[in-house]
Amino acid sequence: MVSVRKLIAGNWKMNGLSNQIVEAVTVAEDLARNPPKVRVAICPPTILVHRIAERLARTIVEVGAQDLHGEAAGAFTGDTSGEMLHDAGARVVIIGHSERRSLHYEDDAVVSGKVNAALRAGLEPIICVGERLDHREAGQALEVVSHQLMHSLPMSLDGRAFVVAYEPVWAIGTGLTPTLEEIANMHRAIRDLLVERFSNGAARPILYGGSVKPSNAQDILHTQDVDGALVGGASLLAKDFLPIIRAAE
Ligand code: PEP
Repeated sequence: MVSVRKLIAGNWKMNGLSNQIVEAVTVAEDLARNPPKVRVAICPPTILVHRIAERLARTIVEVGAQDLHGEAAGAFTGDTSGEMLHDAGARVVIIGHSERRSLHYEDDAVVSGKVNAALRAGLEPIICVGERLDHREAGQALEVVSHQLMHSLPMSLDGRAFVVAYEPVWAIGTGLTPTLEEIANMHRAIRDLLVERFSNGAARPILYGGSVKPSNAQDILHTQDVDGALVGGASLLAKDFLPIIRAAE
């Protein structure tokens, strides 16, 4: 069996002013005292990427972004390219988060284009997929997620470092989570699809995301085929994020 190095990634979403930087620094300092076996990344708002990357340089905590534009440069007012994010110190980037898919109308084709843009810029993409509640209630969760994967993951990913995050839309920020059995079944299906499609598919981390917190992290992170977590709300404070990281070991 291929062993996959776990990743715990924090998604700060549109939260955090300058005084939030100390939370990232506190996480890095704590981990430096007792280095974890897992990879750790923090994805702050774009405006903080550079400042946090400077503060976390030479620590084990990687810095990431939450989105990028598909082009490297050009007349795209308000957008940020992967090249800019890389230049600012980002090394990973979340792509296709359900909030981008729903609030910014990003479909699988847009997500796939952004994955190519991330690879071009030297960023490791964390590609998000997940079903809505009506899909799950209709028994269509596996079908919906498989379709998203097929169309959001370009073949250019073959042999490259990338991460998939399974985030049921109805579990994000709601306090609700699927059962551990439902998580295991979905992760198994995603793993099968990655193995079928990519020569390195067996070694790609599959994260679970959706209301992960210190109280449920241990169970979720030790569920079959769960290789880490994408954490929203509970990544904002070091006191919540650190126990989740420690639970992954
Ligand atoms: C997320 O934003 O990806 C997420 C999983 O959020 P939360 O942990 O707050 O549900």
